[in-house]
Amino acid sequence: MSKKDNLNAPIFKKDLFKDRVLCVASKHKKEKVFSPILLHPLKLKAIEVSLIDTDKFGTFSGETERTVSPLEALRLKCKEALKNTNHSLVIASEGSFGAHPSYPFLQADDELILLWDKEHDLEIWAREVSPNTNFNARMINKLEEAMDFAKEVKFPSHHLIIKDKKVKPTLLQKGIDSWTKLREISTTLLSKEGQFYIETDMRACYNPSRMDVISVASQKLFEKLQSLCPNCQCPGFGLTQTKKGLRCEQCHTPTNLTLVAIHSCLKCTHAKEVMYPLNIKVADPLYCDVCNP
Ligand SMILES: [Zn+2]
Ligand SMILES: [Zn+2]
Repeated sequence: MSKKDNLNAPIFKKDLFKDRVLCVASKHKKEKVFSPILLHPLKLKAIEVSLIDTDKFGTFSGETERTVSPLEALRLKCKEALKNTNHSLVIASEGSFGAHPSYPFLQADDELILLWDKEHDLEIWAREVSPNTNFNARMINKLEEAMDFAKEVKFPSHHLIIKDKKVKPTLLQKGIDSWTKLREISTTLLSKEGQFYIETDMRACYNPSRMDVISVASQKLFEKLQSLCPNCQCPGFGLTQTKKGLRCEQCHTPTNLTLVAIHSCLKCTHAKEVMYPLNIKVADPLYCDVCNP
């Protein structure tokens, strides 16, 4: 597609975020990660925490189930964060935990991060899926089991949560951050109930591993913001689609490997095809349905 396709496309000014305030929709100290990556590099005026109650969109410890998709939850958080301000730029992140999509035997932290520029009606997101997580939970019957679990999940730098039972608990103790506290609560619950449920606290400020993954996602977001559409200069120009068909080295039949990557603009119709995005021009016959049926 050529520039002529888009004569009426809006032309975005250089340094779109310069001298603006970026609101952070979080009460779990995520601004600590966003600031070094975004504040000066984007020439922002300030980063301001918007202390909204993000818990109402879902909690990790199960008091409130998240009923919408992670992206939808992010949109709701962003909207809420701007509600009582004069600002028009906001960022939020949302973590999901469970089996890794490519290695189901590993646990993964799936972090989605969204920047919403209300003024320019622009939504740019980035995602990082990482096996770097301590996400775990267990039923405990003996004090030693609780101590072993704590050692496995990087306690006490990473905090723990204890419940009297897994589902619909009547007791939920957050903020367990020392061996003394852990031993006290465990001993009391074991003598009263005979067992209890222990889990990792996944709130960002109590989980340094999670902060690291959010940091990688933020870096990815920054790179997307730096990628401008060659036609209208809108940030967020990037990969939107791939086409398979890389030919087999031996018999030249198209395989399922990627042949073309398509990069598109979020605002105008400009798109660019990149041939051989994997930097290989022929497919190994191993991936060929004819040579290796
Ligand atoms: Zn072949
Ligand atoms: Zn464009």
